[in-house]
Amino acid sequence: MANLIDIKGVTHAYRTKAGPLPVLRELNIAVPEGEFCAVVGPSGCGKSTLTRLVAGLMKPDTGEVWLHGELVKSPRKTVGMAFQNPVMLEWRTILQNVILPLEIVAPSMPRAQKEARAMDLLEMVGLAGFEHKTPSQLSGGMRQRASLCRAIVHKPDVLIMDEPFGALDNFTREDLWQTMRDLRAKEPFTCVLITHDLRESVFLGDQVIVLSGRPATTQYVMDVALPADRTLDILYTPEVADMLHIL
Ligand code: ADP
Ligand code: MG
Repeated sequence: MANLIDIKGVTHAYRTKAGPLPVLRELNIAVPEGEFCAVVGPSGCGKSTLTRLVAGLMKPDTGEVWLHGELVKSPRKTVGMAFQNPVMLEWRTILQNVILPLEIVAPSMPRAQKEARAMDLLEMVGLAGFEHKTPSQLSGGMRQRASLCRAIVHKPDVLIMDEPFGALDNFTREDLWQTMRDLRAKEPFTCVLITHDLRESVFLGDQVIVLSGRPATTQYVMDVALPADRTLDILYTPEVADMLHIL
């Protein structure tokens, strides 16, 4: 199977007043189409930098980022992004926020069709009935669910999530992990999840990539060979405890 994302020997430094700040070194990551890739690493190691490189918002000093067989040189509309604090337009309803990407990439699509697509997704994440609320009328967890719908409504090649569940309490976070799995069972898409939560990476990832060092480089790549229907309980099996220990 072809790789949807190929990060090959990427090295990057930021130019700062104090001189170059090396952040990533000889990074190699391959994500096959349809796979869920979780990237874990300590704060400040370059995870967000990595997302900007994949989305084409920045170019690496050396190395290459390939997306769908094309060298990434500029920002891409085919990349969906979700962040820890989703920015939602308060003067629009949840439904109107979720259809935003369709207004940009598919302006000629009939409005009813855009709304039907958005409603399908809102239903999948348990937000049916909340579509006419405004963002501030929703809880943080619900807003994050809506932002996930918005990030994939236009069927991007890949969804990149940068610590999307970081601001949520444990219960809400684990609920969202399950939602994420349910969503991908119904609508498979390639995912890169940036997180510093090892349990999250093992629960969601098909492959877990551990970044560390200064500048950060790929330290481990782990295939998470767990059954597709894994539940949260499985995180406490000796097998997984072993894996987390290795990390
Ligand atoms: P992470 O997301 O893993 O916490 P980042 O990719 O945000 O890490 O940042 C990696 C390092 O690069 C940090 O030391 C951060 O301070 C620095 N950095 C991030 N963005 C910039 C920038 N635009 N200019 C200079 N330094 C930056
Ligand atoms: Mg970050």
